[in-house]
Amino acid sequence: MRQLTGRTFTAAVRRGKFLWLPLDDGAALVAHLGMSGQLLVHGTAVAAAREPGGDAARAFLGDPDAPRVDLTATRAPQPASDPDVRPRHLRVRLRLRPIPGDASTGAVLDLVDQRMFGGLRVVAMVPTADGAPGGAGSPAPLIPADVTHIARDLLDPHLDRPAAVAKMRRSNRAVKTLLMDQGIVSGVGNIYADEGLWAARVHGLRPGKTLGPRVTARLLDATGEVMERALAAGGTSFDALYVDADGAAGFFARSLAVYGRAGQECRRCGTLLRAETIGGRSHVFCPRCQTRPRQARS
Ligand SMILES: [Zn+2]
Repeated sequence: MRQLTGRTFTAAVRRGKFLWLPLDDGAALVAHLGMSGQLLVHGTAVAAAREPGGDAARAFLGDPDAPRVDLTATRAPQPASDPDVRPRHLRVRLRLRPIPGDASTGAVLDLVDQRMFGGLRVVAMVPTADGAPGGAGSPAPLIPADVTHIARDLLDPHLDRPAAVAKMRRSNRAVKTLLMDQGIVSGVGNIYADEGLWAARVHGLRPGKTLGPRVTARLLDATGEVMERALAAGGTSFDALYVDADGAAGFFARSLAVYGRAGQECRRCGTLLRAETIGGRSHVFCPRCQTRPRQARS
């Protein structure tokens, strides 16, 4: 991690749960954000950095007009035993070169994760296989060498959607498992998968092979719409106030159709929602809107 001292981060790029900060020497600091990980900038002149939809969040989401935060590391990362004020679940802290207006304690970039620490490492960048940008946040057609196996995010305009649909329809696995398979499409967490399946009226246990091309495309569209709605509501990753175990921000959680609502009425038909387990995760569905396959396998 001493490789970071004196380096300047040139962007913040995201693909699925991976977020990387390209460095001015051609490598990148790569974070795997897991289910609850967050990268937060504190004590900087950019006051909106922690606000949902604020400047740093916009920058992280790839808004080219968002103001840039000076992300220049001045020292090697501090262990979480740093005696300074620190948020709960702080895993790694980077001190940044001060800019006018910063807090007297100086700006820091914190990696916070309330669950298992997803990891942070410096990795060489390689060209993307399709020549398109590596992820949201930078036009550079580069990707960290250890992220190349991760498929493009469902909201990435460069995602090869017909290829993703074809991959899902070739598989015998449960469609919910396929939707959350980062080798097919990334960025789809448990909440988004359940919400997308309900919106598209598909039961999560349906094998990919039983789905028609239109239904599969509709499922990807519906899931992407839920993700866009979550981002518009402040995202599920940048809410500093409250994040639940699956990453649902408090505000967005109240607009969910099925996630966390087992036993309550379907918002479409009034039938009581049910839950079952798919691949170790809870799947909440409407037994009337989402017909369960007869010989279901998970
Ligand atoms: Zn229903």
